[in-house]
Amino acid sequence: LTPFDSAVIILEGDRDATIIAGRGIPQDYINTIIPLEEWVHLKALLNQEKSRMTQPINSSISFWNRIELPNIRSSLLAPMVLPSAAQGVIFIGSKMPAVYNKEDASLVQSLAYYAALSLKNSQLYENTRRQALTDGLTGLKNIRSLYDDLEQEVVRSKRYEQKFSVLMCDLDNFKRYNDLYGHLTGDDLLRDLAMLMTSVARRSDKIFRYGGEEFTLILPETDWEQALILAERLREAVEEYNFILRNSGESSHITISLGLSVFPDDADTPKTLLEKADKALYKAKENRNKVSWIQVVSATG
Ligand code: GH3
Ligand code: MG
Ligand code: MG
Repeated sequence: LTPFDSAVIILEGDRDATIIAGRGIPQDYINTIIPLEEWVHLKALLNQEKSRMTQPINSSISFWNRIELPNIRSSLLAPMVLPSAAQGVIFIGSKMPAVYNKEDASLVQSLAYYAALSLKNSQLYENTRRQALTDGLTGLKNIRSLYDDLEQEVVRSKRYEQKFSVLMCDLDNFKRYNDLYGHLTGDDLLRDLAMLMTSVARRSDKIFRYGGEEFTLILPETDWEQALILAERLREAVEEYNFILRNSGESSHITISLGLSVFPDDADTPKTLLEKADKALYKAKENRNKVSWIQVVSATG
């Protein structure tokens, strides 16, 4: 629609901006971050949300010069803005001098407007999606994520012929804890517990808030023996942890019970893996503060 030799799209972040796409530029610059100072300078060029032509260019301060394109001699800058916020800019450049006219400027400006609109929509969509998959209290993934992730883990582990483990945890006598300290303090404990479990688990493990005071872990590439070690480590870490009470600053204690199931030994679908782990959890609840599993009886007896 308009002549150009080089073009970039720059998106604004909280603290800086990023070149997210480019044509006719050294590919190394795609995904590079533009520090805030430089970005402020670029943004200042965006005269009140209008596109702006710069031709000829003072090459010593030119953005094009910065990305190793000193030969660009005409440039057109269109902000991607909506009433709520600036999102970034579309920046096009040509090696020909004085190549852009008002029509080009308004054309690119309307494109930039629609780009900003779609961008905003996709950000809203992404936020909503993230919220739908996250537990509000603990920030852990929620049960909806659990089913998605279990499904994926089954497919992945089948393909690579690997094992993985599932842990179901339930707090012991948590009703009593609430009765003693109040529900808000109970909520504090759930939050602290989520952080504690995250710090004890490995980076590759995934932790979910299954429901009220129940948590589930997916342990990728983890067999029965390794899972048992991790489960015991979790159980002990919780048992020993001092949960600070919001009112008095004193410490309180809680224990957890855990049930374990292993893919594909115990079960090979998300539903049956959860059922097996849940059944094992019930068994652990006979004593509490315990890790249990359901013994697999092999086909050969
Ligand atoms: P058990 O050892 O058999 O698990 O005993 P329990 O008291 O923990 O019983 P259960 O697992 O059935 O736990 C249910 C209780 O957990 C009810 C409620 O007091 C508490 N609970 C569930 N969700 C929440 C929550 O979001 N916040 C708080 N504060 N408490 C919750
Ligand atoms: Mg429960
Ligand atoms: Mg409980």
